Amino acid sequence: MGRKFTRKFDPESPRDLVAEEYDAHQPSPSMPIPRVARGWVLLLPGGKPLSLYHQRHDCAALLADARLSEQCGENQGIQRVKVDEIGARPDCVACLLCIEETDYSKFKSCAVDTGTDRLQGTRLVWRADLAAGWCAVVIYKLRNRLVADIRTAGELKELSDS
Ligand SMILES: [Zn+2]
Repeated sequence: MGRKFTRKFDPESPRDLVAEEYDAHQPSPSMPIPRVARGWVLLLPGGKPLSLYHQRHDCAALLADARLSEQCGENQGIQRVKVDEIGARPDCVACLLCIEETDYSKFKSCAVDTGTDRLQGTRLVWRADLAAGWCAVVIYKLRNRLVADIRTAGELKELSDS
């Protein structure tokens, strides 16, 4: 009786069965993710070079980062922080997916090697996995749908200038 868990970036958009099937194969994090009230954000500490904070408790990047944090054996949990306070913290950056006003220069464009394809993506945050080495939360388009996924350093390449 697995919980059906679909990550949607825009609840108003029409259903995308391919994306929903993709989401259904992503395990949901066992880390509790609190709902977030107005004036607050959710912060998952420990990210490199910066930790991400989010406005939506069901943000796909937050879910992927929570899974990665668990995979890396971290047990920091998700913190609720006041919006007024988070702006003053140099170790955090607003999530590209769920907060419109963010500093895009803090994220890096990259190519994601899926084994069959090379897709253009954006690296949001790194965490160190003892077994797999450095892993990143990356967003990229998969069949015309944005997904947030965990990728190892070896699967990410610099974008060539050509
Ligand atoms: Zn987010």
